[in-house]
Amino acid sequence: MPAPTQPSEIAREVLRLFAARRISPTPDNFRSLYYEVAGTTDTEGLFPDRFMRALARQLPRDTAERARIARQLDQTLTENNNDASRQALTDYLASLKNEQPPGWNELIANLLRQWEARQLGWTTARKRESLERVLAANDPATLHARLQALVRSWAQAACDPESPVTRAGAANAPASVTFDDAPSRPAELESEVRHIAPGEVGELLAASQELLQLALDTVLPPLLAEQPELAHEADRLAGSVRTASSADELRNIATRMRKFAYRLEMVAGDRGEINAGLLNLLRLLLDNIDQIVVDDSWLSGQVDVLRDVLGKPANVRLIDDAERRLRDIIYKQSQLKHNHSEAQRALKHLLAGFVDHLAGFAETTGAYHDRIGNCADRISAARDITEISGVLGEVMRETLTMRDTARRSRDELDATRERARDAEQRMNELQRQLDETSRLMRHDQLTGVLNRRGLEETFEKEAARARRHGGPLSLALLDLDNFKQLNDTFGHRTGDDALIHLATIVRQSLRPQDTLSRHGGEEFILLYPDTTLVQAQAALVRLQRELTRNFFLTHEDKVLITFSAGVTEWNPDDTVDSIVQRADAAMYRAKQAGRNKVVAHPIA
Ligand code: GH3
Ligand code: MG
Ligand code: MG
Repeated sequence: MPAPTQPSEIAREVLRLFAARRISPTPDNFRSLYYEVAGTTDTEGLFPDRFMRALARQLPRDTAERARIARQLDQTLTENNNDASRQALTDYLASLKNEQPPGWNELIANLLRQWEARQLGWTTARKRESLERVLAANDPATLHARLQALVRSWAQAACDPESPVTRAGAANAPASVTFDDAPSRPAELESEVRHIAPGEVGELLAASQELLQLALDTVLPPLLAEQPELAHEADRLAGSVRTASSADELRNIATRMRKFAYRLEMVAGDRGEINAGLLNLLRLLLDNIDQIVVDDSWLSGQVDVLRDVLGKPANVRLIDDAERRLRDIIYKQSQLKHNHSEAQRALKHLLAGFVDHLAGFAETTGAYHDRIGNCADRISAARDITEISGVLGEVMRETLTMRDTARRSRDELDATRERARDAEQRMNELQRQLDETSRLMRHDQLTGVLNRRGLEETFEKEAARARRHGGPLSLALLDLDNFKQLNDTFGHRTGDDALIHLATIVRQSLRPQDTLSRHGGEEFILLYPDTTLVQAQAALVRLQRELTRNFFLTHEDKVLITFSAGVTEWNPDDTVDSIVQRADAAMYRAKQAGRNKVVAHPIA
């Protein structure tokens, strides 16, 4: 930044440095800071006359004390009384040291003083309106801060030369244009108010009118799609801005704008609350799913990822991803529920059959024992053999019946066992179908990144976006190097862990809008929206570096995982297959070039 040359600019910068460096406010320090900022030396003799006057005009008169000392400084400068000026400046700087905000009594006294003073651009009606907005603050601390900012903005506005209160102190103040009051405007912005030459005013006004119209015509309507009434008001305001030609008309527009801004603020607040409420609902729902599903690690993993997504600032792509994950979860949960109730029904049926059967068997054996007991009684009471042969015949018959019943029972038990086996087979078939549908879902079950189907959906969306905005889009295909060897050395399970490790590291280093998907086996695809070929290539090289920094740990071994990648830039004729094919060809060349390389497919 070039050194400021205008005395008022130098003065403002010197004040800022005093605050930033916490330097003791002595005239000597003042002098040396002045020369530092101005980039001049003592011999040039710029200090203190012009500079002092410019400085005096810049001094905030935001408390009674500071206003008093600043007036004193004005006076001593007019009288060319150097010693008294120096003293006044020292007093003023000492008052800056006291960072305590003014008490309520002082603030109210200041408010009354500034209310009565007349500043350029501040009518009583405008002051009242600003004050009413400030008074709408919800808590005393906010009210205090806003009131203080408001009083300061009034105090810093150029004084109306006709004002009896300010006439004496503002004799040297140049005409200045200040924009709106904005009571909550931060202090640093206050000091940005610039003095404008009279010739510039018309030009600035026209530019502001154009900007305002642009905001009302172009910026706001898409944001107000759900608020037709407000959109209509924006339209009417834009019309008024277009045709306004007098100060009165502009004042009238300003009043309408303030009301409009107030309603807009309300709508924005409501929207913020609705968004926060919806996110909370979603979180609650996720917690609930987590409680219900205790033994499905895929589902728990998806819920964790979703919770993670919700923890980040909202972003269209993250919300897309959240929606896809939620759809997967809902689908899988409905499958699981179906599976579960099917299993319960089968089990109930089996148990009921078994209990019925046991009861029947007990009944049959009970009746058999009764009859045999009865036969035994009759045998003991028999007087001759003819009586006994009759009873024996009965025993034989009962025993045969018993044998038939027992055989029937065994057959029934066999049939029940058969049904149980059928039910088990059905369950297995269900599980198989479930796995099949999982495959058709959008996320890879091992690594949690998108699968091929998820990539296709994302690609279509990003390609449509690139077509709409005309921005670049790049795609890379990654293939792990010598992965078979890793599997052979450490086992397939460790190979799986290495894939998870890679997905984790890649995900950590991606921007929120980039997506990673598993293309199958040890191949991954990265989609980089708003990214040129050269930028995507650089991103992949950074990724290679990340992997070198984050070793994969297994069995106490540190394994360096590398990949070869092919990268290509999207063109409007591309389908997902054509672009992947190009990236694949480039990846193949990276392998041939010795692996652990990134090769770009040249743009046609
Ligand atoms: P190159 O550097 O040429 O790519 O060599 P490579 O060994 O990586 O390639 P190759 O295609 O010969 O072997 C890929 C291996 O990846 C073979 C297969 O067993 C393994 N693989 C594929 N999918 C999985 C998986 O899901 N888990 C595990 N652990 N291994 C997998
Ligand atoms: Mg491969
Ligand atoms: Mg490989």
